[in-house]
Amino acid sequence: MSNNELISKTAIEQSKLLKNREVSSVELVEAHFERIEEVDEKLGTFNSLTKEEAIKTAKEVDEKLKNKESLPVLAGVPLALKDNMNMVGSYTTASSKILANFVSPYDATVTKKLKENMIPIVGKANMDEFAMGSSNENSATKLVHNPWNLNKVPGGSSGGSAAAVAACEVPLSLGSDTGGSIRLPASFCGIVGVKPTYGRVSRYGLIAFASSLDQIGPFSRCVEDSALLLEAISGHDEKDSTSLKLEVPKYSELIKHDINGLKVGVITELLSDGVSPCVKSAIEAAIQKYKDLGAQIVEVSLPLLKYSIGVYYIIATAEASSNLARFDGVKYGHRTKEAKSLIEMYCKTRAEGFGDEVKRRIMLGTYALSSGYYDAYYKKAQQVRRLIKNDFDKVFTQADVIICPTCPYTAFEIGSKVSDPLSMYLTDIGTITANLGGIPGMSVPCGFDKDGMPIGLEILAPALKEDVMMCAAYNFEQATDFHKKIANI
Ligand code: GLN
Repeated sequence: MSNNELISKTAIEQSKLLKNREVSSVELVEAHFERIEEVDEKLGTFNSLTKEEAIKTAKEVDEKLKNKESLPVLAGVPLALKDNMNMVGSYTTASSKILANFVSPYDATVTKKLKENMIPIVGKANMDEFAMGSSNENSATKLVHNPWNLNKVPGGSSGGSAAAVAACEVPLSLGSDTGGSIRLPASFCGIVGVKPTYGRVSRYGLIAFASSLDQIGPFSRCVEDSALLLEAISGHDEKDSTSLKLEVPKYSELIKHDINGLKVGVITELLSDGVSPCVKSAIEAAIQKYKDLGAQIVEVSLPLLKYSIGVYYIIATAEASSNLARFDGVKYGHRTKEAKSLIEMYCKTRAEGFGDEVKRRIMLGTYALSSGYYDAYYKKAQQVRRLIKNDFDKVFTQADVIICPTCPYTAFEIGSKVSDPLSMYLTDIGTITANLGGIPGMSVPCGFDKDGMPIGLEILAPALKEDVMMCAAYNFEQATDFHKKIANI
Protein backbone atom coordinates (compact mmCIF):
# COMPACT_ATOMS: atom_id res chain seq x y z
CA MET A 1 0.00 0.00 0.00
CA SER A 2 1.34 3.45 -0.87
CA ASN A 3 1.87 6.06 1.82
CA ASN A 4 -0.87 8.18 0.30
CA GLU A 5 -3.37 5.37 0.51
CA LEU A 6 -2.35 4.64 4.07
CA ILE A 7 -2.68 8.15 5.41
CA SER A 8 -6.01 8.77 3.73
CA LYS A 9 -7.58 5.89 5.65
CA THR A 10 -9.75 6.67 8.66
CA ALA A 11 -8.51 5.92 12.18
CA ILE A 12 -10.65 2.80 12.49
CA GLU A 13 -9.35 1.52 9.14
CA GLN A 14 -5.78 2.23 10.22
CA SER A 15 -6.44 0.44 13.50
CA LYS A 16 -7.64 -2.63 11.60
CA LEU A 17 -4.49 -2.64 9.46
CA LEU A 18 -2.44 -2.53 12.65
CA LYS A 19 -4.33 -5.36 14.33
CA ASN A 20 -4.00 -7.49 11.17
CA ARG A 21 -0.29 -6.70 11.20
CA GLU A 22 -0.47 -5.32 7.66
CA VAL A 23 1.38 -2.26 8.85
CA SER A 24 3.27 -1.45 12.03
CA SER A 25 2.52 1.54 14.20
CA VAL A 26 6.03 2.89 13.58
CA GLU A 27 5.40 2.72 9.81
CA LEU A 28 2.06 4.40 10.27
CA VAL A 29 3.48 7.20 12.36
CA GLU A 30 6.43 7.65 9.96
CA ALA A 31 4.05 7.84 7.00
CA HIS A 32 2.18 10.68 8.69
CA PHE A 33 5.41 12.51 9.50
CA GLU A 34 6.36 12.25 5.83
CA ARG A 35 3.04 13.84 4.97
CA ILE A 36 3.62 16.57 7.54
CA GLU A 37 7.00 17.29 5.98
CA GLU A 38 5.43 17.38 2.55
CA VAL A 39 2.54 19.77 3.25
CA ASP A 40 2.99 21.55 6.54
CA GLU A 41 4.98 24.45 5.23
CA LYS A 42 2.08 25.31 2.95
CA LEU A 43 -0.57 24.77 5.63
CA GLY A 44 1.01 26.03 8.86
CA THR A 45 -0.91 23.50 10.94
CA PHE A 46 1.70 22.62 13.55
CA ASN A 47 3.34 24.86 16.13
CA SER A 48 5.66 22.04 17.24
CA LEU A 49 6.20 18.35 16.60
CA THR A 50 6.78 15.63 19.18
CA LYS A 51 8.19 12.94 16.94
CA GLU A 52 10.37 11.21 19.50
CA GLU A 53 7.45 10.79 21.86
CA ALA A 54 5.18 9.53 19.05
CA ILE A 55 7.69 6.96 17.81
CA LYS A 56 8.28 5.76 21.36
CA THR A 57 4.55 5.06 21.81
CA ALA A 58 4.39 3.43 18.36
CA LYS A 59 7.24 1.09 19.28
CA GLU A 60 5.47 0.07 22.48
CA VAL A 61 2.33 -0.66 20.47
CA ASP A 62 4.29 -2.74 17.95
CA GLU A 63 5.88 -4.70 20.76
CA LYS A 64 2.47 -5.52 22.23
CA LEU A 65 1.09 -6.42 18.81
CA LYS A 66 4.03 -8.75 18.29
CA ASN A 67 3.25 -10.45 21.59
CA LYS A 68 -0.43 -10.66 20.64
CA GLU A 69 -1.44 -8.62 23.69
CA SER A 70 -4.83 -6.96 23.55
CA LEU A 71 -4.81 -3.23 22.92
CA PRO A 72 -7.28 -0.31 23.01
CA VAL A 73 -8.96 0.26 19.63
CA LEU A 74 -7.09 3.45 18.74
CA ALA A 75 -3.68 2.29 20.02
CA GLY A 76 -0.95 3.08 17.51
CA VAL A 77 -3.01 5.53 15.45
CA PRO A 78 -1.46 9.03 15.38
CA LEU A 79 -3.14 12.16 16.73
CA ALA A 80 -2.46 15.90 17.06
CA LEU A 81 -3.22 17.99 20.15
CA LYS A 82 -4.36 21.59 19.99
CA ASP A 83 -1.59 23.73 21.40
CA ASN A 84 -3.62 24.71 24.47
CA MET A 85 -3.46 21.22 25.98
CA ASN A 86 -0.59 20.35 28.25
CA MET A 87 1.66 17.42 27.51
CA VAL A 88 4.65 17.00 29.76
CA GLY A 89 7.91 18.11 28.15
CA SER A 90 6.23 19.68 25.11
CA TYR A 91 5.83 23.35 24.24
CA THR A 92 2.30 24.49 25.08
CA THR A 93 1.95 27.99 23.72
CA ALA A 94 -1.75 28.59 23.02
CA SER A 95 -0.24 30.29 19.92
CA SER A 96 0.66 33.27 22.10
CA LYS A 97 3.92 35.15 22.45
CA ILE A 98 3.37 35.21 26.19
CA LEU A 99 3.78 31.42 26.32
CA ALA A 100 6.21 31.06 23.42
CA ASN A 101 8.80 29.21 25.50
CA PHE A 102 6.50 27.50 27.97
CA VAL A 103 7.18 23.78 28.41
CA SER A 104 4.43 21.79 30.14
CA PRO A 105 5.44 20.38 33.50
CA TYR A 106 2.48 17.96 33.50
CA ASP A 107 -0.07 16.17 31.33
CA ALA A 108 -3.63 17.38 30.84
CA THR A 109 -6.16 14.69 31.71
CA VAL A 110 -6.97 14.19 28.03
CA THR A 111 -3.26 13.71 27.31
CA LYS A 112 -3.03 11.18 30.12
CA LYS A 113 -6.00 9.30 28.69
CA LEU A 114 -4.52 9.34 25.18
CA LYS A 115 -1.33 7.89 26.61
CA GLU A 116 -3.28 5.18 28.45
CA ASN A 117 -4.85 4.36 25.10
CA MET A 118 -1.34 4.24 23.56
CA ILE A 119 -2.20 6.86 20.96
CA PRO A 120 0.98 8.39 19.50
CA ILE A 121 0.85 12.19 19.81
CA VAL A 122 2.66 13.75 16.85
CA GLY A 123 2.59 17.42 17.81
CA LYS A 124 0.81 20.55 18.89
CA ALA A 125 -1.55 22.17 16.40
CA ASN A 126 -1.69 25.89 15.63
CA MET A 127 -4.74 27.83 16.85
CA ASP A 128 -6.07 31.32 17.45
CA GLU A 129 -4.24 32.88 20.38
CA PHE A 130 -5.84 31.55 23.59
CA ALA A 131 -8.60 30.06 21.38
CA MET A 132 -10.01 33.50 20.64
CA GLY A 133 -11.07 33.67 17.03
CA SER A 134 -12.99 32.08 14.20
CA SER A 135 -10.40 32.00 11.44
CA ASN A 136 -7.06 31.13 13.04
CA GLU A 137 -5.76 34.52 11.95
CA ASN A 138 -5.21 35.50 15.59
CA SER A 139 -2.34 33.04 16.01
CA ALA A 140 0.90 34.74 17.03
CA THR A 141 2.92 32.01 15.34
CA LYS A 142 1.73 31.78 11.73
CA LEU A 143 -1.36 31.53 9.57
CA VAL A 144 -3.14 28.24 8.97
CA HIS A 145 -4.34 27.71 5.40
CA ASN A 146 -7.42 25.74 4.44
CA PRO A 147 -6.36 22.48 2.73
CA TRP A 148 -9.20 22.87 0.20
CA ASN A 149 -7.99 26.29 -0.90
CA LEU A 150 -4.81 27.78 0.52
CA ASN A 151 -6.11 31.34 0.17
CA LYS A 152 -8.96 30.63 2.57
CA VAL A 153 -9.10 30.35 6.34
CA PRO A 154 -9.49 26.92 7.98
CA GLY A 155 -11.89 28.32 10.60
CA GLY A 156 -10.97 28.80 14.23
CA SER A 157 -10.00 28.64 16.82
CA SER A 158 -8.92 24.99 16.41
CA GLY A 159 -7.88 25.64 12.79
CA GLY A 160 -4.61 23.71 12.98
CA SER A 161 -6.27 20.62 14.48
CA ALA A 162 -8.94 20.63 11.77
CA ALA A 163 -6.64 21.35 8.82
CA ALA A 164 -4.23 18.63 9.96
CA VAL A 165 -7.00 16.03 9.79
CA ALA A 166 -8.40 17.34 6.50
CA ALA A 167 -4.90 17.25 4.97
CA CYS A 168 -4.25 13.68 6.19
CA GLU A 169 -1.36 14.78 8.38
CA VAL A 170 -3.17 12.82 11.10
CA PRO A 171 -6.45 10.89 11.14
CA LEU A 172 -7.38 12.27 14.56
CA SER A 173 -6.93 15.42 16.59
CA LEU A 174 -8.31 17.21 19.60
CA GLY A 175 -9.66 20.73 19.67
CA SER A 176 -11.42 22.89 22.24
CA ASP A 177 -14.76 24.60 21.73
CA THR A 178 -15.89 27.63 23.72
CA GLY A 179 -18.27 29.08 21.16
CA GLY A 180 -17.77 26.89 18.10
CA SER A 181 -14.05 26.34 17.81
CA ILE A 182 -14.38 22.65 17.00
CA ARG A 183 -17.52 22.74 14.88
CA LEU A 184 -16.66 25.77 12.76
CA PRO A 185 -13.23 24.56 11.57
CA ALA A 186 -14.67 21.07 11.06
CA SER A 187 -17.26 22.63 8.78
CA PHE A 188 -14.75 24.82 6.89
CA CYS A 189 -12.35 21.90 6.43
CA GLY A 190 -14.95 19.25 5.48
CA ILE A 191 -14.45 16.91 8.44
CA VAL A 192 -16.27 15.74 11.57
CA GLY A 193 -15.90 17.73 14.81
CA VAL A 194 -17.66 17.07 18.11
CA LYS A 195 -18.21 19.37 21.08
CA PRO A 196 -19.40 17.19 23.96
CA THR A 197 -21.76 18.14 26.78
CA TYR A 198 -20.17 20.53 29.26
CA GLY A 199 -18.55 18.33 31.91
CA ARG A 200 -18.22 15.22 29.73
CA VAL A 201 -14.49 15.63 29.16
CA SER A 202 -12.11 16.89 31.83
CA ARG A 203 -10.71 20.37 31.27
CA TYR A 204 -7.79 19.78 33.63
CA GLY A 205 -4.66 20.85 31.81
CA LEU A 206 -6.50 22.78 29.10
CA ILE A 207 -5.40 26.42 29.08
CA ALA A 208 -8.61 28.13 30.13
CA PHE A 209 -10.36 30.69 27.94
CA ALA A 210 -13.92 30.83 29.37
CA SER A 211 -14.25 28.09 31.95
CA SER A 212 -18.04 27.80 31.95
CA LEU A 213 -18.07 27.28 28.17
CA ASP A 214 -14.83 25.44 27.26
CA GLN A 215 -14.99 21.78 26.23
CA ILE A 216 -12.43 19.51 24.58
CA GLY A 217 -13.55 17.28 21.72
CA PRO A 218 -12.44 15.20 18.73
CA PHE A 219 -11.85 15.84 15.02
CA SER A 220 -11.79 13.02 12.48
CA ARG A 221 -12.69 12.16 8.89
CA CYS A 222 -15.65 9.97 9.87
CA VAL A 223 -18.21 9.84 12.67
CA GLU A 224 -17.13 6.47 14.02
CA ASP A 225 -13.59 7.76 14.64
CA SER A 226 -14.90 10.69 16.65
CA ALA A 227 -17.14 8.34 18.64
CA LEU A 228 -14.14 6.16 19.47
CA LEU A 229 -11.96 9.10 20.40
CA LEU A 230 -14.69 10.63 22.56
CA GLU A 231 -14.99 7.31 24.39
CA ALA A 232 -11.26 7.41 25.05
CA ILE A 233 -11.14 10.94 26.48
CA SER A 234 -14.46 11.17 28.38
CA GLY A 235 -15.15 10.41 32.01
CA HIS A 236 -15.02 11.76 35.51
CA ASP A 237 -11.88 13.43 36.73
CA GLU A 238 -11.45 14.51 40.31
CA LYS A 239 -9.05 17.21 39.12
CA ASP A 240 -11.89 19.02 37.32
CA SER A 241 -14.74 19.85 39.69
CA THR A 242 -17.11 20.41 36.76
CA SER A 243 -16.50 16.99 35.27
CA LEU A 244 -19.52 14.71 35.50
CA LYS A 245 -19.52 11.54 37.57
CA LEU A 246 -21.13 9.32 34.98
CA GLU A 247 -20.32 6.18 33.05
CA VAL A 248 -19.09 6.72 29.49
CA PRO A 249 -21.49 5.10 27.01
CA LYS A 250 -20.19 2.88 24.22
CA TYR A 251 -20.68 5.60 21.63
CA SER A 252 -19.04 3.62 18.84
CA GLU A 253 -21.73 0.94 19.17
CA LEU A 254 -24.69 3.19 19.91
CA ILE A 255 -24.17 5.28 16.77
CA LYS A 256 -24.94 2.28 14.60
CA HIS A 257 -28.62 2.11 15.52
CA ASP A 258 -31.06 3.23 12.85
CA ILE A 259 -32.92 6.54 13.11
CA ASN A 260 -36.35 5.44 12.05
CA GLY A 261 -38.84 7.69 13.85
CA LEU A 262 -36.16 10.01 15.23
CA LYS A 263 -37.55 13.51 15.60
CA VAL A 264 -35.23 15.94 13.82
CA GLY A 265 -35.94 19.60 14.56
CA VAL A 266 -34.99 22.25 12.04
CA ILE A 267 -34.19 25.65 13.55
CA THR A 268 -36.16 28.07 11.43
CA GLU A 269 -34.16 31.14 12.53
CA LEU A 270 -30.98 29.62 11.15
CA LEU A 271 -32.33 28.88 7.72
CA SER A 272 -33.60 32.35 6.95
CA ASP A 273 -31.84 35.60 6.01
CA GLY A 274 -28.10 35.74 5.84
CA VAL A 275 -27.57 32.09 4.95
CA SER A 276 -25.72 31.74 1.66
CA PRO A 277 -27.80 30.00 -1.04
CA CYS A 278 -25.43 27.05 -1.43
CA VAL A 279 -25.42 26.39 2.33
CA LYS A 280 -29.18 26.66 2.39
CA SER A 281 -29.66 24.16 -0.39
CA ALA A 282 -27.17 21.72 1.17
CA ILE A 283 -29.12 21.85 4.44
CA GLU A 284 -32.41 21.38 2.61
CA ALA A 285 -30.95 18.34 0.88
CA ALA A 286 -29.85 17.04 4.29
CA ILE A 287 -33.39 17.48 5.61
CA GLN A 288 -34.65 15.44 2.66
CA LYS A 289 -32.04 12.78 3.40
CA TYR A 290 -33.28 12.54 6.98
CA LYS A 291 -36.83 12.08 5.71
CA ASP A 292 -35.61 9.29 3.42
CA LEU A 293 -33.94 7.66 6.42
CA GLY A 294 -37.25 7.53 8.25
CA ALA A 295 -36.79 10.51 10.52
CA GLN A 296 -39.64 12.82 11.33
CA ILE A 297 -38.91 16.48 10.57
CA VAL A 298 -40.31 19.13 12.88
CA GLU A 299 -39.84 22.87 12.71
CA VAL A 300 -38.55 24.37 15.92
CA SER A 301 -37.79 27.89 17.02
CA LEU A 302 -35.13 29.40 19.27
CA PRO A 303 -36.50 32.94 19.65
CA LEU A 304 -33.63 34.10 21.87
CA LEU A 305 -30.98 33.01 19.41
CA LYS A 306 -30.55 36.62 18.34
CA TYR A 307 -29.11 37.47 21.75
CA SER A 308 -26.62 34.63 21.89
CA ILE A 309 -23.65 36.42 20.32
CA GLY A 310 -24.13 39.40 22.64
CA VAL A 311 -24.49 37.19 25.70
CA TYR A 312 -21.49 35.11 24.72
CA TYR A 313 -19.20 38.09 24.22
CA ILE A 314 -20.01 39.36 27.70
CA ILE A 315 -19.68 36.03 29.51
CA ALA A 316 -16.70 34.70 27.54
CA THR A 317 -14.72 37.92 27.78
CA ALA A 318 -15.54 38.32 31.48
CA GLU A 319 -14.24 34.82 32.22
CA ALA A 320 -11.26 35.32 29.94
CA SER A 321 -10.25 38.55 31.65
CA SER A 322 -10.15 36.67 34.93
CA ASN A 323 -8.48 33.51 33.57
CA LEU A 324 -5.78 35.43 31.74
CA ALA A 325 -4.85 37.44 34.83
CA ARG A 326 -2.41 34.65 35.67
CA PHE A 327 -0.15 35.58 32.75
CA ASP A 328 1.72 38.34 34.49
CA GLY A 329 5.35 37.47 33.91
CA VAL A 330 5.78 35.98 37.38
CA LYS A 331 5.01 32.30 36.98
CA TYR A 332 4.59 31.57 33.29
CA GLY A 333 6.31 32.26 30.03
CA HIS A 334 7.41 35.65 28.80
CA ARG A 335 8.65 38.40 31.14
CA THR A 336 9.61 41.85 29.88
CA LYS A 337 13.25 42.80 30.12
CA GLU A 338 12.58 46.48 30.65
CA ALA A 339 10.72 47.04 33.89
CA LYS A 340 11.81 49.15 36.83
CA SER A 341 8.94 48.23 39.15
CA LEU A 342 6.59 45.32 39.70
CA ILE A 343 3.60 47.14 38.19
CA GLU A 344 5.63 48.14 35.18
CA MET A 345 6.76 44.53 34.81
CA TYR A 346 3.13 43.33 34.76
CA CYS A 347 2.05 45.97 32.28
CA LYS A 348 4.94 45.61 29.86
CA THR A 349 4.88 41.82 30.00
CA ARG A 350 1.23 41.76 29.06
CA ALA A 351 1.56 44.53 26.49
CA GLU A 352 4.37 42.65 24.77
CA GLY A 353 2.95 39.15 25.22
CA PHE A 354 -0.70 39.41 24.21
CA GLY A 355 -1.99 40.02 20.70
CA ASP A 356 -4.64 42.60 19.75
CA GLU A 357 -7.67 40.32 19.93
CA VAL A 358 -6.69 39.00 23.36
CA LYS A 359 -6.22 42.55 24.62
CA ARG A 360 -9.60 43.54 23.18
CA ARG A 361 -11.26 40.68 25.05
CA ILE A 362 -9.50 41.43 28.33
CA MET A 363 -10.67 45.03 28.11
CA LEU A 364 -14.25 44.05 27.22
CA GLY A 365 -14.38 41.47 30.00
CA THR A 366 -12.86 43.71 32.64
CA TYR A 367 -15.38 46.39 31.73
CA ALA A 368 -18.32 43.96 31.94
CA LEU A 369 -17.21 42.86 35.40
CA SER A 370 -16.39 46.29 36.78
CA SER A 371 -18.45 47.70 39.61
CA GLY A 372 -21.33 49.74 38.28
CA TYR A 373 -21.51 47.73 35.06
CA TYR A 374 -21.62 44.22 36.49
CA ASP A 375 -25.39 44.23 36.97
CA ALA A 376 -26.08 45.90 33.64
CA TYR A 377 -23.92 43.55 31.59
CA TYR A 378 -22.60 40.43 33.29
CA LYS A 379 -25.62 39.69 35.46
CA LYS A 380 -28.02 40.45 32.62
CA ALA A 381 -26.05 38.18 30.28
CA GLN A 382 -26.22 35.34 32.83
CA GLN A 383 -29.99 35.81 33.06
CA VAL A 384 -30.42 35.67 29.30
CA ARG A 385 -28.14 32.63 29.20
CA ARG A 386 -30.61 30.87 31.49
CA LEU A 387 -33.48 31.83 29.19
CA ILE A 388 -31.60 30.45 26.19
CA LYS A 389 -31.14 27.19 28.11
CA ASN A 390 -34.91 27.19 28.76
CA ASP A 391 -35.48 27.61 25.01
CA PHE A 392 -33.41 24.51 24.39
CA ASP A 393 -35.25 22.56 27.07
CA LYS A 394 -38.52 23.41 25.35
CA VAL A 395 -37.26 22.56 21.89
CA PHE A 396 -36.01 19.19 23.09
CA THR A 397 -39.51 18.25 24.17
CA GLN A 398 -40.43 18.54 20.48
CA ALA A 399 -37.33 17.02 18.87
CA ASP A 400 -34.65 14.45 19.74
CA VAL A 401 -31.95 16.37 17.87
CA ILE A 402 -31.93 19.66 16.06
CA ILE A 403 -30.10 20.60 12.88
CA CYS A 404 -28.95 23.80 11.21
CA PRO A 405 -25.98 25.04 9.18
CA THR A 406 -22.78 24.99 11.28
CA CYS A 407 -22.00 28.34 9.67
CA PRO A 408 -24.16 30.47 7.36
CA TYR A 409 -21.33 30.50 4.79
CA THR A 410 -18.27 28.53 3.72
CA ALA A 411 -14.62 29.36 4.45
CA PHE A 412 -13.75 32.96 3.56
CA GLU A 413 -10.58 34.50 2.12
CA ILE A 414 -7.67 35.04 4.48
CA GLY A 415 -7.63 38.71 5.49
CA SER A 416 -11.19 39.44 4.45
CA LYS A 417 -12.63 39.87 7.94
CA VAL A 418 -9.67 40.73 10.17
CA SER A 419 -10.39 44.42 10.28
CA ASP A 420 -14.06 43.88 11.12
CA PRO A 421 -14.28 42.03 14.46
CA LEU A 422 -18.06 42.24 14.56
CA SER A 423 -18.49 40.44 11.27
CA MET A 424 -15.95 37.86 12.49
CA TYR A 425 -17.96 37.35 15.70
CA LEU A 426 -21.13 36.74 13.66
CA THR A 427 -19.50 33.68 12.05
CA ASP A 428 -20.42 31.75 15.20
CA ILE A 429 -24.16 32.45 15.17
CA GLY A 430 -24.94 28.75 14.63
CA THR A 431 -22.54 27.34 17.21
CA ILE A 432 -22.38 29.65 20.23
CA THR A 433 -25.80 28.82 21.70
CA ALA A 434 -24.82 25.20 22.34
CA ASN A 435 -22.00 26.37 24.64
CA LEU A 436 -24.32 28.76 26.44
CA GLY A 437 -26.75 25.87 26.99
CA GLY A 438 -24.00 23.37 27.87
CA ILE A 439 -25.37 20.90 25.31
CA PRO A 440 -23.43 18.75 22.82
CA GLY A 441 -23.08 19.76 19.18
CA MET A 442 -21.19 18.51 16.17
CA SER A 443 -20.50 19.29 12.54
CA VAL A 444 -20.59 16.69 9.79
CA PRO A 445 -19.83 17.26 6.07
CA CYS A 446 -23.00 17.83 4.02
CA GLY A 447 -21.88 19.30 0.70
CA PHE A 448 -19.65 21.70 -1.23
CA ASP A 449 -20.19 25.19 -2.58
CA LYS A 450 -19.61 26.11 -6.24
CA ASP A 451 -15.91 26.67 -5.55
CA GLY A 452 -15.54 23.26 -3.98
CA MET A 453 -15.40 24.49 -0.38
CA PRO A 454 -16.97 22.16 2.20
CA ILE A 455 -20.30 22.82 3.95
CA GLY A 456 -21.07 21.54 7.45
CA LEU A 457 -24.32 20.33 8.94
CA GLU A 458 -24.61 21.03 12.65
CA ILE A 459 -26.45 18.58 14.87
CA LEU A 460 -27.34 19.49 18.46
CA ALA A 461 -28.75 17.22 21.16
CA PRO A 462 -29.88 17.47 24.78
CA ALA A 463 -27.20 17.29 27.46
CA LEU A 464 -25.48 13.88 27.58
CA LYS A 465 -27.18 12.65 24.42
CA GLU A 466 -23.96 12.49 22.39
CA ASP A 467 -24.96 8.96 21.41
CA VAL A 468 -28.21 10.13 19.77
CA MET A 469 -26.44 13.09 18.14
CA MET A 470 -23.64 10.98 16.69
CA CYS A 471 -26.14 8.31 15.66
CA ALA A 472 -28.00 10.94 13.62
CA ALA A 473 -24.66 12.01 12.11
CA TYR A 474 -23.52 8.46 11.41
CA ASN A 475 -26.73 7.56 9.60
CA PHE A 476 -26.48 10.71 7.49
CA GLU A 477 -22.82 10.03 6.72
CA GLN A 478 -23.47 6.43 5.72
CA ALA A 479 -26.15 7.62 3.31
CA THR A 480 -23.91 10.28 1.68
CA ASP A 481 -20.45 10.55 0.12
CA PHE A 482 -19.29 13.98 1.25
CA HIS A 483 -16.89 12.64 3.87
CA LYS A 484 -15.12 10.47 1.32
CA LYS A 485 -13.76 13.39 -0.65
CA ILE A 486 -10.29 14.43 0.45
CA ALA A 487 -8.67 17.81 -0.09
CA ASN A 488 -6.14 17.86 -2.89
CA ILE A 489 -3.19 19.94 -1.77
N1 GLN B 1 -15.01 32.26 17.70
C1 GLN B 1 -15.37 32.31 19.08
C2 GLN B 1 -14.50 33.28 19.82
O1 GLN B 1 -13.66 33.86 19.22
C3 GLN B 1 -15.30 30.93 19.69
C4 GLN B 1 -13.94 30.52 20.02
C5 GLN B 1 -13.86 29.18 20.67
O2 GLN B 1 -14.79 28.38 20.59
N2 GLN B 1 -12.74 28.93 21.33
O3 GLN B 1 -14.66 33.46 21.00
